[in-house]
Amino acid sequence: MKNKGKLIVISGPSGVGKGTICRQLLEECEDLVLSVSATTRAPRVEDKEGVTYYFKNREEFEQMIARGDFLEWAIYNNNYYGTPCLPVEEKLNQGMNVLLEIDVQGALHVKKNFPEGVYIFIAPPDTETLYSRLRGRGTENPEEIARRVDAATLELSKQNEYDYIVINDVLQQAVEDVKEIIKGRSERI
Ligand code: ADP
Ligand code: 5GP
Repeated sequence: MKNKGKLIVISGPSGVGKGTICRQLLEECEDLVLSVSATTRAPRVEDKEGVTYYFKNREEFEQMIARGDFLEWAIYNNNYYGTPCLPVEEKLNQGMNVLLEIDVQGALHVKKNFPEGVYIFIAPPDTETLYSRLRGRGTENPEEIARRVDAATLELSKQNEYDYIVINDVLQQAVEDVKEIIKGRSERI
Protein backbone atom coordinates (compact mmCIF):
# COMPACT_ATOMS: atom_id res chain seq x y z
CA MET A 1 0.00 0.00 0.00
CA LYS A 2 1.18 3.55 -0.76
CA ASN A 3 2.33 5.67 2.21
CA LYS A 4 -0.01 8.47 3.21
CA GLY A 5 0.95 11.90 1.84
CA LYS A 6 1.97 14.87 3.98
CA LEU A 7 -0.24 17.83 4.75
CA ILE A 8 1.79 21.00 4.06
CA VAL A 9 0.28 24.17 5.49
CA ILE A 10 1.58 27.51 4.24
CA SER A 11 0.44 30.74 5.79
CA GLY A 12 1.53 34.25 6.66
CA PRO A 13 0.20 37.77 6.22
CA SER A 14 -1.59 38.91 3.10
CA GLY A 15 0.87 40.16 0.45
CA VAL A 16 3.87 38.21 1.77
CA GLY A 17 3.99 36.05 -1.35
CA LYS A 18 2.21 32.83 -0.29
CA GLY A 19 0.28 32.52 -3.53
CA THR A 20 3.37 33.22 -5.63
CA ILE A 21 5.42 30.62 -3.74
CA CYS A 22 2.63 28.04 -3.90
CA ARG A 23 2.19 28.47 -7.68
CA GLN A 24 5.91 27.91 -8.17
CA LEU A 25 5.93 24.86 -5.86
CA LEU A 26 3.03 23.30 -7.73
CA GLU A 27 4.88 23.72 -11.01
CA GLU A 28 8.08 22.21 -9.64
CA CYS A 29 6.79 19.38 -7.41
CA GLU A 30 4.80 16.73 -9.24
CA ASP A 31 3.58 14.87 -6.12
CA LEU A 32 2.10 18.07 -4.63
CA VAL A 33 -1.54 19.09 -5.07
CA LEU A 34 -3.34 22.21 -3.92
CA SER A 35 -6.39 22.07 -1.70
CA VAL A 36 -8.95 24.42 -3.27
CA SER A 37 -10.71 26.48 -0.59
CA ALA A 38 -14.24 27.82 -0.58
CA THR A 39 -14.82 31.54 0.02
CA THR A 40 -17.52 34.19 0.06
CA ARG A 41 -15.17 36.94 -1.19
CA ALA A 42 -15.81 38.34 -4.67
CA PRO A 43 -13.73 36.75 -7.43
CA ARG A 44 -10.75 38.78 -8.75
CA VAL A 45 -10.02 38.98 -12.47
CA GLU A 46 -7.43 36.20 -12.23
CA ASP A 47 -9.65 33.87 -10.17
CA LYS A 48 -11.13 30.73 -11.69
CA GLU A 49 -14.02 28.83 -10.14
CA GLY A 50 -12.85 25.47 -8.83
CA VAL A 51 -9.20 26.31 -9.56
CA THR A 52 -8.33 29.22 -7.25
CA TYR A 53 -11.46 28.95 -5.07
CA TYR A 54 -15.02 27.61 -4.97
CA PHE A 55 -17.03 30.84 -4.78
CA LYS A 56 -20.07 30.60 -2.49
CA ASN A 57 -22.64 33.00 -1.10
CA ARG A 58 -22.93 33.33 2.69
CA GLU A 59 -25.95 31.03 2.88
CA GLU A 60 -24.23 28.25 0.93
CA PHE A 61 -21.09 28.63 3.03
CA GLU A 62 -23.05 28.50 6.30
CA GLN A 63 -24.80 25.32 5.11
CA MET A 64 -21.39 23.76 4.47
CA ILE A 65 -20.29 24.73 8.01
CA ALA A 66 -23.47 23.19 9.46
CA ARG A 67 -22.88 19.93 7.52
CA GLY A 68 -19.34 19.71 8.92
CA ASP A 69 -17.82 19.92 5.42
CA PHE A 70 -14.73 21.91 6.54
CA LEU A 71 -11.42 20.84 8.01
CA GLU A 72 -11.21 24.45 9.17
CA TRP A 73 -12.84 27.72 8.30
CA ALA A 74 -12.21 31.33 9.30
CA ILE A 75 -13.59 34.80 8.81
CA TYR A 76 -10.97 37.02 7.22
CA ASN A 77 -11.87 40.63 6.44
CA ASN A 78 -15.61 39.95 6.72
CA ASN A 79 -15.54 36.99 4.35
CA TYR A 80 -15.66 33.29 5.03
CA TYR A 81 -12.79 31.08 3.87
CA GLY A 82 -12.68 27.32 4.45
CA THR A 83 -10.88 24.11 3.53
CA PRO A 84 -13.24 21.32 2.45
CA CYS A 85 -12.14 18.11 4.27
CA LEU A 86 -13.09 15.35 1.88
CA PRO A 87 -10.74 16.14 -1.04
CA VAL A 88 -7.83 16.63 1.40
CA GLU A 89 -8.39 13.22 3.04
CA GLU A 90 -8.79 11.48 -0.33
CA LYS A 91 -5.57 12.92 -1.73
CA LEU A 92 -3.55 12.18 1.43
CA ASN A 93 -4.82 8.59 1.32
CA GLN A 94 -3.73 8.34 -2.32
CA GLY A 95 -0.19 9.22 -1.19
CA MET A 96 -0.13 12.79 -2.50
CA ASN A 97 1.27 15.71 -0.53
CA VAL A 98 -1.49 18.28 -0.08
CA LEU A 99 -0.75 22.00 0.09
CA LEU A 100 -3.02 24.31 2.09
CA GLU A 101 -2.50 28.04 1.60
CA ILE A 102 -4.57 29.50 4.40
CA ASP A 103 -4.66 32.36 6.87
CA VAL A 104 -2.97 32.25 10.28
CA GLN A 105 -6.13 31.57 12.33
CA GLY A 106 -7.02 28.65 10.08
CA ALA A 107 -3.50 27.20 10.10
CA LEU A 108 -3.23 27.23 13.88
CA HIS A 109 -6.67 25.63 14.12
CA VAL A 110 -5.64 22.80 11.76
CA LYS A 111 -2.40 22.38 13.75
CA LYS A 112 -4.39 21.59 16.90
CA ASN A 113 -6.41 18.87 15.15
CA PHE A 114 -3.70 17.59 12.81
CA PRO A 115 -0.31 17.97 14.53
CA GLU A 116 1.39 15.59 12.06
CA GLY A 117 1.07 18.26 9.34
CA VAL A 118 4.01 20.48 8.37
CA TYR A 119 3.34 24.12 9.32
CA ILE A 120 5.30 26.81 7.47
CA PHE A 121 5.06 30.55 8.14
CA ILE A 122 6.10 32.76 5.22
CA ALA A 123 7.59 35.96 6.64
CA PRO A 124 8.52 39.19 4.84
CA PRO A 125 12.13 40.48 4.98
CA ASP A 126 10.63 43.52 6.80
CA THR A 127 7.21 45.10 7.26
CA GLU A 128 7.77 47.91 4.72
CA THR A 129 8.40 45.31 2.02
CA LEU A 130 5.21 43.53 3.03
CA TYR A 131 3.13 46.69 2.70
CA SER A 132 4.68 47.68 -0.60
CA ARG A 133 4.00 44.18 -2.03
CA LEU A 134 0.41 44.38 -0.86
CA ARG A 135 -0.04 47.84 -2.41
CA GLY A 136 1.91 46.87 -5.54
CA ARG A 137 -0.32 43.87 -6.23
CA GLY A 138 -3.13 46.31 -6.99
CA THR A 139 -5.94 43.86 -6.27
CA GLU A 140 -7.46 45.59 -3.23
CA ASN A 141 -8.82 49.07 -2.62
CA PRO A 142 -7.11 51.32 -0.03
CA GLU A 143 -9.61 50.42 2.75
CA GLU A 144 -9.12 46.70 2.14
CA ILE A 145 -5.33 47.18 2.11
CA ALA A 146 -5.55 49.04 5.44
CA ARG A 147 -7.53 46.14 6.95
CA ARG A 148 -4.96 43.62 5.70
CA VAL A 149 -2.09 45.73 7.08
CA ASP A 150 -3.88 45.83 10.48
CA ALA A 151 -4.36 42.06 10.44
CA ALA A 152 -0.66 41.54 9.58
CA THR A 153 0.57 42.76 12.98
CA LEU A 154 -1.30 40.03 14.84
CA GLU A 155 -0.43 37.43 12.19
CA LEU A 156 3.30 38.22 12.40
CA SER A 157 3.18 37.79 16.18
CA LYS A 158 2.12 34.14 15.73
CA GLN A 159 5.07 32.98 13.63
CA ASN A 160 6.77 31.12 16.47
CA GLU A 161 3.78 28.77 16.73
CA TYR A 162 4.80 27.22 13.39
CA ASP A 163 7.27 24.39 12.73
CA TYR A 164 9.23 26.48 10.20
CA ILE A 165 9.65 30.12 9.20
CA VAL A 166 10.71 30.90 5.62
CA ILE A 167 11.63 34.48 4.75
CA ASN A 168 10.40 35.42 1.30
CA ASP A 169 13.10 37.83 0.18
CA VAL A 170 14.44 36.32 -3.06
CA LEU A 171 11.52 34.30 -4.43
CA GLN A 172 13.43 31.30 -5.80
CA GLN A 173 15.36 30.91 -2.54
CA ALA A 174 12.10 30.86 -0.56
CA VAL A 175 10.71 28.22 -2.95
CA GLU A 176 13.86 26.08 -2.52
CA ASP A 177 13.63 26.45 1.29
CA VAL A 178 10.04 25.19 1.27
CA LYS A 179 11.01 22.27 -1.01
CA GLU A 180 13.75 21.23 1.45
CA ILE A 181 11.21 21.34 4.29
CA ILE A 182 8.75 19.18 2.31
CA LYS A 183 11.53 16.65 1.67
CA GLY A 184 12.17 16.59 5.45
CA ARG A 185 15.70 17.93 5.13
CA SER A 186 15.34 21.09 7.27
CA GLU A 187 15.55 21.53 11.02
CA ARG A 188 12.37 22.61 12.80
CA ILE A 189 12.53 25.90 14.73
P1 ADP B 1 -0.15 36.49 -0.77
O1 ADP B 1 -0.65 35.28 -1.53
O2 ADP B 1 0.67 36.13 0.43
O3 ADP B 1 -1.24 37.47 -0.42
P2 ADP B 1 1.08 37.21 -3.34
O4 ADP B 1 1.68 35.90 -3.73
O5 ADP B 1 -0.16 37.64 -4.04
O6 ADP B 1 0.87 37.28 -1.73
O7 ADP B 1 2.23 38.31 -3.50
C1 ADP B 1 1.98 39.70 -3.28
C2 ADP B 1 2.77 40.51 -4.29
O8 ADP B 1 4.17 40.39 -3.99
C3 ADP B 1 2.59 40.03 -5.72
O9 ADP B 1 2.52 41.17 -6.56
C4 ADP B 1 3.85 39.21 -6.00
O10 ADP B 1 4.21 39.23 -7.36
C5 ADP B 1 4.90 39.92 -5.14
N1 ADP B 1 5.96 39.04 -4.65
C6 ADP B 1 5.84 37.81 -4.10
N2 ADP B 1 7.05 37.32 -3.73
C7 ADP B 1 7.96 38.27 -4.03
C8 ADP B 1 9.40 38.37 -3.89
N3 ADP B 1 10.12 37.38 -3.34
N4 ADP B 1 9.99 39.49 -4.32
C9 ADP B 1 9.27 40.50 -4.86
N5 ADP B 1 7.92 40.47 -5.04
C10 ADP B 1 7.26 39.38 -4.63
P1 5GP C 1 -7.34 36.25 -0.59
O1 5GP C 1 -8.63 37.00 -0.41
O2 5GP C 1 -6.15 37.18 -0.74
O3 5GP C 1 -7.40 35.19 -1.66
O4 5GP C 1 -7.07 35.44 0.77
C1 5GP C 1 -7.12 36.12 2.01
C2 5GP C 1 -6.55 35.23 3.09
O5 5GP C 1 -7.35 34.06 3.26
C3 5GP C 1 -5.13 34.72 2.76
O6 5GP C 1 -4.33 34.86 3.93
C4 5GP C 1 -5.36 33.27 2.40
O7 5GP C 1 -4.22 32.47 2.69
C5 5GP C 1 -6.51 32.93 3.33
N1 5GP C 1 -7.25 31.72 2.93
C6 5GP C 1 -7.49 31.24 1.69
N2 5GP C 1 -8.18 30.10 1.76
C7 5GP C 1 -8.38 29.83 3.08
C8 5GP C 1 -9.02 28.77 3.80
O8 5GP C 1 -9.55 27.81 3.25
N3 5GP C 1 -9.02 28.87 5.15
C9 5GP C 1 -8.44 29.89 5.81
N4 5GP C 1 -8.48 29.86 7.13
N5 5GP C 1 -7.83 30.91 5.17
C10 5GP C 1 -7.80 30.88 3.83
